[in-house]
Amino acid sequence: MQTSFTSEFIQSADGERVNNILRKCVHCGFCNATCPTYELTGNELDGPRGRIYLIKNFFEESLEENSEGSSNETSLKHLDRCLTCLACETTCPSGVKYGELVDIGRKHINASIQRPVLSKIKRKLILNAFSSSMRVGILLAIARIFKPLLPASLASKLPAKIKLSAISASGLGPSLGILSSSSRKMLTIKGCVQKAAAPQINFATKKVLADSDIQLDEANSACCGALAFHLTELDQAHATIRKNIDHWYQILNDGYEKILINSSGCSTFIKQYATIMQDDNAYADKAKFISEHCIDLSEIASELTPKAPHSREKTTKNSTNKTIAFHSPCTLQHGQNINGKIEEKLIQAGYNLVEVQDSHLCCGSAGTYSLLEGDMSSQLLENKVANLENNQPDMIVTANIGCLMHIQSGTKIPVKHWIELLV
Ligand code: SF4
Ligand code: SF4
Repeated sequence: MQTSFTSEFIQSADGERVNNILRKCVHCGFCNATCPTYELTGNELDGPRGRIYLIKNFFEESLEENSEGSSNETSLKHLDRCLTCLACETTCPSGVKYGELVDIGRKHINASIQRPVLSKIKRKLILNAFSSSMRVGILLAIARIFKPLLPASLASKLPAKIKLSAISASGLGPSLGILSSSSRKMLTIKGCVQKAAAPQINFATKKVLADSDIQLDEANSACCGALAFHLTELDQAHATIRKNIDHWYQILNDGYEKILINSSGCSTFIKQYATIMQDDNAYADKAKFISEHCIDLSEIASELTPKAPHSREKTTKNSTNKTIAFHSPCTLQHGQNINGKIEEKLIQAGYNLVEVQDSHLCCGSAGTYSLLEGDMSSQLLENKVANLENNQPDMIVTANIGCLMHIQSGTKIPVKHWIELLV
């Protein structure tokens, strides 16, 4: 793609990156074919190629005069509608880094306009509510009390309450012992939404790892910073990232092998720390170190050897007849290019996986997208649930808390995190 940026822009750090990314694009449009939002609206500006042009035009400072009659507000509207699912990156034959481009585009376009007051308030409320597990827990408790009064669309999103006593009775829970004899130690984070909405996932992770002789310790960090970053609250995101880096860097050098994350949205984001902090002289090297030491739980799926009697039985005798529809989160299949590892483990554990049509498409959760772009998100959810339910599975299984809660709001079939099936 030809660009005509000013030399001043190209000499800036973001300008050089934008120019290098854009020059790889041959505007073939293959990416539009796998873009969920383009598929829904058929509007070129709701597809990756159109969004790439919007960003290019913005930086060429020609938006006011262009033939589409676009404005910076229009550009931001179409960028806001992008799920950042990165299906387009997976499809692109030229290796265009759309994710990095859209992050830079959002940063600059967002800074050039004033969002409407109500939109600003909504975004601030979402950020404050969901970046702390304590606040998520309080909100969930209040919402459950007033559930009959909530609009159906909101009430359906409320996760069922999981009692800690039920978790403990199943052999999991906070009292789970740490194996002092473990030869391997890994670090994880407490998390924000997952810890409050589905605490059994963290307990199951710790249990399965302990059974596999891997000690998993929690660092005292809540949010990875993704929430603030994706709401373009960059100062807050960078402050959270710096705090996490300072904390984890010190602990990692104390004999921990990796930072292990069981929610693919968070593992993808921590792997992006290196890119996000590359211009911060004080943190660039440490951010790279943290990103290189972060792994998603699925990356060690083949090393997990659950020792619970019923799990052993399932593994060796292939005895369960349960059928599963697996939803691979975009952050796993597109964001980290991790494919097949969880499916292989579940088959090994005795589950039957059914085929899911259009498995490359986003479910519409996409972080805070379901709260900010409700209509588009609901349509994507409806399509996703229809495909997941098509072969009447006993369970739907995924690897990211956002997808799990979003899909559960649209189906009566139980939706679980894959690690829960190995306990
Ligand atoms: S597929 Fe790649 S090269 Fe083709 S238009 Fe999309 S981003 Fe550009
Ligand atoms: S990230 Fe997803 S929604 Fe956004 S342009 Fe790419 S394919 Fe479309």
